[in-house]
Amino acid sequence: MSGHHAVVVGGGLAGVTAALRLADAGLRVTLLEGRPRLGGLAFSFRRGDLTVDNGQHVYLRCCTAYRWFLDRVGGTDLAPVQDRLDVPVLDAAGPRGARLGRLRRTALPVPLHLAASLATYPHLSPAERLGVGRAALALKALDPADPALDATDFAGWLARHGQSRRAVEALWDLVGVATLNATAARSSLALAATVFKTGLLSDPGAADIGWARAPLGHLHDTLARRALEARGARIAVRTKVTAVTPADGGRWVVDVPGDSLEADTVVLAVPQREAHGLLPPGALDAPGDLLRIGTAPILNVHVVYDRPVLRRPFFAAIGSPVQWVFDRTGPSGLRGGGQYLAVSQSAAGDEIDASAADLRARYLPELERLLPPARHARVEDFFVTRERTATFAPAPGVGRFRPGTRTRVPGLYLAGAWTATGWPATMEGAVRSGFTAAGAALSALGRPHVHPLEEAA
Ligand SMILES: Cc1cc2nc3c(=O)[nH]c(=O)nc-3n(C[C@H](O)[C@H](O)[C@H](O)COP(=O)(O)OP(=O)(O)OC[C@H]3O[C@@H](n4cnc5c(N)ncnc54)[C@H](O)[C@@H]3O)c2cc1C
Repeated sequence: MSGHHAVVVGGGLAGVTAALRLADAGLRVTLLEGRPRLGGLAFSFRRGDLTVDNGQHVYLRCCTAYRWFLDRVGGTDLAPVQDRLDVPVLDAAGPRGARLGRLRRTALPVPLHLAASLATYPHLSPAERLGVGRAALALKALDPADPALDATDFAGWLARHGQSRRAVEALWDLVGVATLNATAARSSLALAATVFKTGLLSDPGAADIGWARAPLGHLHDTLARRALEARGARIAVRTKVTAVTPADGGRWVVDVPGDSLEADTVVLAVPQREAHGLLPPGALDAPGDLLRIGTAPILNVHVVYDRPVLRRPFFAAIGSPVQWVFDRTGPSGLRGGGQYLAVSQSAAGDEIDASAADLRARYLPELERLLPPARHARVEDFFVTRERTATFAPAPGVGRFRPGTRTRVPGLYLAGAWTATGWPATMEGAVRSGFTAAGAALSALGRPHVHPLEEAA
């Protein structure tokens, strides 16, 4: 094994990926994580007999980096992608109860793969459906790397392209809020264009949805740890880094409580605020920019019923405060014939501080409105998980504050979903940033390496 020592700070998906890539390249790697587990913002915990994810996570077939990660840790079979995009969309506000529509694709080439589904989508008028098709084609022509798009808001662009409020609610925000963690009004056009172009307009299967059938902690902690240890990487959890300081000979000293480590390479894979606190002076031209990257919350409402109330694995809702609902029964290990649903609420700024009692009073009747069998079911458990800094806020203009992986000091690299990946804050962005950081570190060492996405191509 190489004598070159790389220390990765932060054991979220970005840090785990960087550590895996560096260890795969033969470096001696230490991964330091402040919390008791790996996985960062995508983790699981126990609640009695249940294993609970801190929030429902999904990914798309086009998330090639996250799929590499799943494959690398041996988790692909535990988080399969649906054969073909199929999203049941329930409109709660129908005059005769909830009405079901489907967003599905066919095997036809882009953009015809969605045409049939759009043509029959009952939640839009025929004119709105045509208008959506036209706007989608206009979106396809945009270049997300154009800085002017970063400064523009998505809602304004949609309005200029004739999209009604209904079309925004029933289609653009239905997808956009869940993927960007912001409404169109609060999203940069560049990030929205990335999501819609890559997901819906690149390859027919790009938006097929994948999600874990096992607890997230099994994939992002247990399996990740196993893969790292198999490569000889050392992992220290409950180890919060307090300082990263340049030392003689281009080396680094990484301080943890009661100890310090010497490193040749450091990857800082912590959230932007923590990165700002740990970066040595002069590492970035404008370190204050990191603090200008805002954050956005996600709330999950968890309900355990005494019987099945939902036949599908998930659905999305409109005409209701409910956004997306997932059946968590299998992954949670719930026994005894009940069903466990997680209601995933993105862009949840208005509700993140609401009490569990208020959320219960709000969401249980809504679920009954959407799912008639819930009206006769007993609620056996109800709880809420709140992630106040779930993602960076994809606000217009955020792109110019997101730094690349290289700092001004050799041997120090940044990673994290919030860095300049071109993607919104996602597992995909986090893994990509880990690739980029490890690739830059290996290039600086003159080590041959192939980008994993090129390897797979
Ligand atoms: C509820 C919720 C739902 C989401 N849904 C989706 C989804 O459906 N699809 C999707 O793709 N993405 C989703 N995301 C976003 C996704 O989880 C994140 O973008 C991704 O996990 C971020 O990974 P990261 O490694 O960049 O950062 P983080 O996960 O934040 O990892 C950073 C790590 O650094 C550690 N750390 C911080 N300071 C120190 C220190 N001083 N020393 C040592 N360690 C430190 C932290 O403890 C943390 O483990 C969701 C997020 C949440 C919270």
